[in-house]
Formats: sequence, structure tokens, C-alpha cells
Amino acid sequence: MAEVRISNLTKTFGGITAVDNVSFETREGEFFFLLGPSGAGKSTIFNLIAGITPITEGDIFIGNKKVNNLKPGERNVAVAFESYALYPNRTVYQNIRFPLDAPVRKKDLSDSEKDKMVRDMAKLLQIDPLLDRYPKELSGGQRQRVSLGRTLIRRPNVYLLDEPIAHLDAKLRHQMRRELKRLQQEQGVPAIFATPDQSEAVAMADRIAVLDKGRIQQIGTPKELYFNPINTFVASSIGEPKITFIEAEIERKGNSLYLQKGNVNFKIPPKICKVIEENKISNKVIFGIRYSDLEISFEKKQEEGYLECIVDFYQINGEKVVITAVHDELKLVVVHELDRDKMIETGNQIWLKWESQNPYLFDCESGENLIP
Ligand code: ADP
Ligand code: MG
Repeated sequence: MAEVRISNLTKTFGGITAVDNVSFETREGEFFFLLGPSGAGKSTIFNLIAGITPITEGDIFIGNKKVNNLKPGERNVAVAFESYALYPNRTVYQNIRFPLDAPVRKKDLSDSEKDKMVRDMAKLLQIDPLLDRYPKELSGGQRQRVSLGRTLIRRPNVYLLDEPIAHLDAKLRHQMRRELKRLQQEQGVPAIFATPDQSEAVAMADRIAVLDKGRIQQIGTPKELYFNPINTFVASSIGEPKITFIEAEIERKGNSLYLQKGNVNFKIPPKICKVIEENKISNKVIFGIRYSDLEISFEKKQEEGYLECIVDFYQINGEKVVITAVHDELKLVVVHELDRDKMIETGNQIWLKWESQNPYLFDCESGENLIP
């Protein structure tokens, strides 16, 4: 059964189309993500599902029920927004408990059951020492967790979580990802989570809808989107460091194929050559190269296929070094383990070999994947 089904949903504000013919359905118990940059239309989709904003065109179903004409309160949707509209005159405890005392819920649970639920939720969100404080006595990240607690304490038909952990510091955000995922699995309530952060989506999602300018580009599991992106937008939306795109010619020399751009010739890996031949792809294409497709050497290699590059820029990221290397017009990103005995410096020579298992070839005009 489809838990939430959105069918050809459009929302315009004056001349702006914020949501453009969007369709998707979430599956039972699934954690579904909307991933897209700021302004992509994520919050507007949530406002439409929650009934806060009127629909321009299209339908919304929750369970099997069309909810287009239901008031927000009749939809039983719990929303956690990025900005945390808390009740300023209520304590943290009272804020989190508020939905449990709503007239429709009032008699479902005993007082001590409600009390336990509030305290358990506060513990889960690591705000249990703050239960007696008022919102103005909290940091932004603490307020966001109170807001999240107030949303999660309900048992709605669906949760809509709009960048709910964006304001937490990195360590807590990582913990919350795990907790939220666990909670969502335990409760089995369908949840839709909106974020501009691909690492958040990839870490938690069962499936992701990639959104750009109000339009869905592709829906799939994190793996599907990573390995089979429908276009360059999706390819660059998933994976960190981002995929590198190189618009280049395919050149044949003997039995081998080369990526040719200006004076640069870079040997195309056998797996990709095979796909190029099989699909009769010729001339100019956009090659996508992920950092994991490149093998790095710090010594000159006689072996064929290594391209000599200069380190243009590097950044240490935990135990890894992210290196941007150049060769003429070609710019490549490669990741190397941080090594005490081998410090990388700007201007160093390195040798890169392209060893991809997964082809990324896109049309120069449309950006569409030539091998979807
Ligand atoms: P996201 O949540 O992905 O950042 P939004 O749904 O907030 O994106 O916004 C999508 C687009 O709709 C943006 O261009 C935004 O400026 C526009 N928009 C959102 N709400 C309104 C509104 N109430 N009036 C006019 N334009 C709006
Ligand atoms: Mg938003």
C-alpha cells in the first residue's frame, strides 16, 4: 500500500513555479528523502502535504484517502520544521508533551504514560537535563531538538521532517541521524525527510527523490542514484567529493580509446571502452570521473595509462586528503589516505591512473546519462 502518494502536484506563487508536476509514492515503513538545494521546492511540498498551503494542481493521498480538501488538523501529519516555532511560555517538558494533551489524544493515554513518553523522548534527543527550561534559555541546536521531540512524540499517519537537524553541531548531528533512523524503523511510521545535504540523505534514506527547481530529477535508492544517475545533476548531487565532469572527445589509437581534451590524452579504462563500443558512442561526451576511479602514484610510472599531474590544491579531511590535481586543462579530484611519511604539498607531481568499474558518460547538450 502506498503510504503517501503525490500525483502531478504543482504549486505556483504568482509567476514562480515552486513545485512542478511532482509525483512520487512512499512505501510502507520507508524513510523517503527529498534531496535538493535551497529553493528546490522541498518545504513547499511539505506545506502542500500538511495542508498549510493550497494546491495549484494535482492530488495528495495519505493511505488511500485523498486529502486535497482536508484541513491540516484532519490529515494527522506531524511536521518538524527547520525553524522551531516553540511555545515561548511553556517549558521544554510542556512543549514536548503538548501534542499528547491535544483534545483528540487526551484520553488515549494515562498521565503517567504521557510523562514517560516525554522523558524517553527527551533522553533520546539528549535534552533530558533541560526539561524545566524555557525556549529562550536554549541554544539553537537545543531548540531544534525540542521541536523534533514535539513532532516525534505523536503517532501520525506520516512524519514530515524538514531539515530537522540542520542546526546541530557535527557530532550530535551524526548521533541524531542514527537515532532518527532507528526510531523511524521501530515505529514503522512513514517519514519524509527534506535536506540539501547528500551525506545525510545517503546515510539514512531507503529511497531519495532528487529535486531541482521544483522538478523531480530521479527517484532511487542511494546506490541506484550513485551508480546510475539519470543526468549530470543527479550525478553531482550524490557523492562527496563530487564527481568531476570533463567534456572531451573520444579518440581511438590502435586498440585503445582515449579521452582527448586539448593536448591531453587520458587512457579510458577497459570497462568504459567496452560500454562505449557496445553503445556506439562517438565524438564528444561528458565523462564523469569519481575520486574512487583514480589510482594515485607519487612516483613516475613507466606503465601506460598514468597521467602526470600537479597538485593544485589539497584539503585534509579526517584521515583523508582530498587532492585537486591538474594537467593542462584537465582538473581531477582524488582522495588519498593521510600518511605521516608522505606529506602532500601544492606543486607536487603525482601520477594518476583511471581505473573505473562504473561508466559515467553524459550527453553534452542535455546532460543525460548515455548508459542509464
Ligand atoms: P526549499 O525548501 O527546497 O529550499 P522552498 O519550497 O522553500 O524550497 O521554495 C521553493 C521556491 O518557491 C523558491 O523559489 C521560493 O522562493 C518560492 N516560494 C516558497 N514559498 C513562497 C511564497 N510563500 N511566496 C512566493 N514564493 C515562494
Ligand atoms: Mg526548505
